[in-house]
Amino acid sequence: MKTSAIERLQKPVAMPSRGIHIAAPQRGRTSLTALRRAARDCRACDLWKHATQTVFGEGASKASIMFVGEQPGDQEDLAGHPFVGPAGNVLDQALLEAGIDRAEVYLTNAVKHFKWSPAERGKRRIHKKPRYSEIHACRPWLEAELRVVKPRILVCLGSTAAQSLLGRTFSVTRQRGQLIDSPLAPFVIALAPFVIATVHPSSILRAPNSDARQLQMQAFIDDLRIVSKLARKAKAA
Ligand code: SF4
Repeated sequence: MKTSAIERLQKPVAMPSRGIHIAAPQRGRTSLTALRRAARDCRACDLWKHATQTVFGEGASKASIMFVGEQPGDQEDLAGHPFVGPAGNVLDQALLEAGIDRAEVYLTNAVKHFKWSPAERGKRRIHKKPRYSEIHACRPWLEAELRVVKPRILVCLGSTAAQSLLGRTFSVTRQRGQLIDSPLAPFVIALAPFVIATVHPSSILRAPNSDARQLQMQAFIDDLRIVSKLARKAKAA
């Protein structure tokens, strides 16, 4: 994140993991608004060059649950909002089944610009997985969102989000639906006491047939039910 992208923010303090200067969290929406505005001009990696716009996180400024996906997709890039495309529809359906109100969560991505390559034929833009260097470059924005929202529960959707926050060796396949031990990610746990990972909803759309899709959707809903239970416990505590 270059200084120019965050100069508009006030009260600079050092971000511990990068030595990057960014605003001290102010109250709720004001801080998120300031972060969102600053992220519009971010040039810390090359992904901004071919994307329409920065797609920053959205949702309740004091959400108890924060979901982190990989990056905006084609529709999110055009609309400027996270999780509004096909994967967002899958997430909406699973949230509903799990009893989680989308209006009460915060949704964001590990990478804030859409990475894509042109299809061999036609005008379609094909999603490309971000490189580790791009995930790393974008992490200060995610950390800043965590500091402001202060969720009780952080949910990593897919391997990019999990590896950004929990380390490159983290395996979603092996550890999905489990609470993450603090030694794995002490900094993240300090910001969100409960951390859990599951698949990205787009993986369900890639299932080879409808039976597999149904099974994967059910497993995803089961993981979100764990999140829902944790949220109820956290509320009652
Ligand atoms: S992907 Fe992230 S780090 Fe790269 S330019 Fe966009 S906002 Fe900045």
